[in-house]
Amino acid sequence: MFGKKIFITLAVIMGLALSAPQAKAKQDILFGGASITGVYYQVALQISNIMNKYQGDKYNFIGRPTGGSVFNINALERGAFDFGVAQSDRNWQAFNGSADWDGRPITSLRSLFSMHPETVMLVTRKDTGIEKVEDIRGKRVNIGNPGSGQRGNAMDVLRIYGLDHTKDFRAEGLQQHEASRALVDRNIDAFFYTVGNPSAAIEEPATSVDIRMIPINAPGIKKMVEERPYYIMTSIPAGTYRGVDQDIETYAVTATVVSSESVSDEVVYDMVKTVFENLDELKASHAAFRNLVVEEMLQGLSAPLHPGAEKYFKEQGWM
Ligand code: GLU
Repeated sequence: MFGKKIFITLAVIMGLALSAPQAKAKQDILFGGASITGVYYQVALQISNIMNKYQGDKYNFIGRPTGGSVFNINALERGAFDFGVAQSDRNWQAFNGSADWDGRPITSLRSLFSMHPETVMLVTRKDTGIEKVEDIRGKRVNIGNPGSGQRGNAMDVLRIYGLDHTKDFRAEGLQQHEASRALVDRNIDAFFYTVGNPSAAIEEPATSVDIRMIPINAPGIKKMVEERPYYIMTSIPAGTYRGVDQDIETYAVTATVVSSESVSDEVVYDMVKTVFENLDELKASHAAFRNLVVEEMLQGLSAPLHPGAEKYFKEQGWM
């Protein structure tokens, strides 16, 4: 009696399944961000939200935390991700085979569009006595996890200021969410970080302890910025973070959304079109995206444009 009921129910369900039109499987798309408290993860999550809202019948976008720019570029090459966020300086180096990619250019790397500017920062607690970059001598300082974009920027800053991370101070390679925590817990004295503003990774320690941000503006920094097209001098405005009441001069890169030549033109076109058609929604989704402007989003792309993005920009008459 009971068994018969189950049998009938199963038969009905199977009948329904067979007669229902077969739903086309959605394509999973992986989008790599960086540390969970940074802004890249927000880029990956917010664009994924927009894609799943407007193109959800076709795609299932998944934003993932990762090790950062260098990790993302390498993961795109391996085909482990479809999209990722990376610093404009790292893109240039990867495509041209320098720095982390010395003699091993990532020729498959493709640009889609630029996002927010990211400042190179050195953040400390007020009680460490660190007031200028040179003062990190003898201290414990996070220079960024291998795979992050900030690690390369920290190494450039250290070289220009004549500091050696193997002997002048104790260098740590923490992921940023660990570094922010370690600063509050006094397990480190300072961290280097290259990120859009405002970032939760700096807001969090700034609300727990008194922080100080150190200018990175030596003549050698300005010279490097002049020589390299992907850097600009800038300032983090006073009041961006609690307790930092004056403008902090430093240099900046641009966060860019990148992909690989092996990702299809259709997927890239659908993504780029949906993002630009809903740009106001993306701008409203995080304070660091507030000032995005179409014209600027098409600049600073150091790897070649992906044909799927180019198609959309041409249709719009933007290029
Ligand atoms: N610029 C950092 C990197 O390339 C990530 C910053 C962020 O997560 O917003 O790894």
